[in-house]
Amino acid sequence: MSPIEEIYPLFSRPKRTVIIMHQKPDADAMGSSLGLYHFLRQLGYELTVISPTNWADWLKWMPGAGNVIDFEFSTEKALAALEKAEWVFCLDFNTLARTRNMASRLRKVDATRILIDHHQQPEADWFDYGISDTGKSSTSEMVYDLIAGSGHGRLIDIDIAACLYAGVMSDTGSFRYPGATASVHRMVAALKDTGLNHTLIHEHLFDNFLENRLRFTGFVLLNRMEIFYEHNAALIAIPWKDLVRYEIKTGDTEGLVNYPLTIQGIRMAALIIDRDEEVKCSFRSKGDFDVNVFARKYFEGGGHVNAAGGRSTESLEATVGRFVEALKENSSQLQ
Ligand code: 5GP
Ligand code: MN
Repeated sequence: MSPIEEIYPLFSRPKRTVIIMHQKPDADAMGSSLGLYHFLRQLGYELTVISPTNWADWLKWMPGAGNVIDFEFSTEKALAALEKAEWVFCLDFNTLARTRNMASRLRKVDATRILIDHHQQPEADWFDYGISDTGKSSTSEMVYDLIAGSGHGRLIDIDIAACLYAGVMSDTGSFRYPGATASVHRMVAALKDTGLNHTLIHEHLFDNFLENRLRFTGFVLLNRMEIFYEHNAALIAIPWKDLVRYEIKTGDTEGLVNYPLTIQGIRMAALIIDRDEEVKCSFRSKGDFDVNVFARKYFEGGGHVNAAGGRSTESLEATVGRFVEALKENSSQLQ
């Protein structure tokens, strides 16, 4: 993989370009992809933005979100765009498995492949150009760096600013995690200079749910949370029937895994959800307990030091059992 800077001189000739984010995109995946989309559009590119799956309703306010193709819903359209693409950007993921059903087609794509991502252990050999930097707060910050670094900073308008702000705000836990560096705050200052209304974006992302989601949160905190004080850890395990009962949709469980970390002394939290087609796991930690390593070792996943995810093909009960065993094995590192 050659350094991303080597594509900067190539921006001058517009290309048919596809931008891809990871499945079940979060605000950073969607925000970075749409930020890049608005930038390249100003340069005259022919663009298609694809999500491997559907996404949460609370991302639909983002400028350009209406143009994003859901691969599972509009497969033919997405495949046609991939077929004629000259450039393919992969944003906010670094292993093709994160594109779910798209992965096998994507692997064969006949286009220049460009990676922009901040997760650990990239599949770097697959990409022609790119940047993989775990020191970055968010992929949105990296898209900002790309626009500014390639000499096009003046093209950053209020639409780009809204998308990138949503991504960086979300991935830094509203500027709370260590990734919220001085340069992140300097970037936000520059985004504010476009006229960005940051208060509105917080409302879009955090005050934009239906009653059932809040009732569901109350229910699971009361009934599905278990605290393992001896390991300084906590688990929320949610059976499929709860998702049905509360009519839970994509994105409605986002943020749930963080609640147990508000308990004094808890250093690691897990959320294990039976999503019917698979059991999905989310892990969060404080300090130096590395949940990326934990997710890779036990749950076919990965992510960052303090936020990672994975999956299991076993039942919810079996997955919970395996989690409890894994906790015991790692207990000394959680003290
Ligand atoms: P979440 O728990 O919100 O799904 O994901 C937390 C972090 O872990 C995100 O940065 C996400 O990209 C990463 N992640 C989640 N699930 C997986 C997975 O199955 N594989 C890998 N490699 N990373 C994941
Ligand atoms: Mn991200």
